Amino acid sequence: MKNLRLASRATEQRTVVKVSSVEFGRDFIVIAGPCSVESEEQTLETARAVKAAGADMLRGGAFKPRTSPYAFQGLGLRGLKILASARRQTGLPIVTEVIDPRDVSWVAEFADMLQIGTRNMQNFSLLKEVGRSGRPVLLKRGMYSTLEEWLNCAEYILSEGNPDVILCERGIRTFETYTRNTLDLSAVPAMKELTHLPIIIDPTHSTGRINLIGPMSQAALAAGADGLIIEVHHKPDEALCDAEQALTPEMFADLMRRLRPLQAFLQNLPSA
Ligand code: PEP
Ligand code: MN
Repeated sequence: MKNLRLASRATEQRTVVKVSSVEFGRDFIVIAGPCSVESEEQTLETARAVKAAGADMLRGGAFKPRTSPYAFQGLGLRGLKILASARRQTGLPIVTEVIDPRDVSWVAEFADMLQIGTRNMQNFSLLKEVGRSGRPVLLKRGMYSTLEEWLNCAEYILSEGNPDVILCERGIRTFETYTRNTLDLSAVPAMKELTHLPIIIDPTHSTGRINLIGPMSQAALAAGADGLIIEVHHKPDEALCDAEQALTPEMFADLMRRLRPLQAFLQNLPSA
């Protein structure tokens, strides 16, 4: 692929992205939390539960890129303060989405990692801004984008002097309607060939179906992904965003219990 001066994989070396004490590209990292920050109670309860189940990081959106302008748009600054409080109380580093280049510098003061959502993958001014933010960036794949386009977006961030980019496959649009999107799991081994950057899987937005999240998480681990990002809500029926795809804390804990033995099994397999 042309012009991928920094993102392409020239050697065997792999980038490890450190977010506080969490190391993407070294360990299998699980990020969990609500789609959006709705209240202190909701965020803290969910944060405590995912921490107890073994999550490594907390997610939660304070700025939500919604399909409808009338849908809940997020709590903004208040949401970021709630996330900061959840970090204080649980020790979990936080990742949160930023959708406007004008907000990057102050959102970066709250977040341990900035998320670029699928709808903004090719928002080049936003990419340049997070490239200058001094924070690691979780770059989600555009739902209509090829691997090459996605890597070029990583290049935008890297070329601003920010080496800490983590890719996230979150499903692409196909003709299939049973699932919310189609999880392109082949992106994991493909990106391992193409780039040194870590790649994680979002089984929540890719499937949009609670029953598919567990199997796709296990498949992601087996395919060599560096981690997962999963939506969990303490009361999914009351969630203001993505209610139909949020795991309960019990379901999440159960999934974590099922991932651990698979991880141990995979570690003992001879490498290909
Ligand atoms: C999210 O993570 O809540 C989100 C909006 O994801 P995506 O950009 O993949 O739709
Ligand atoms: Mn969501």
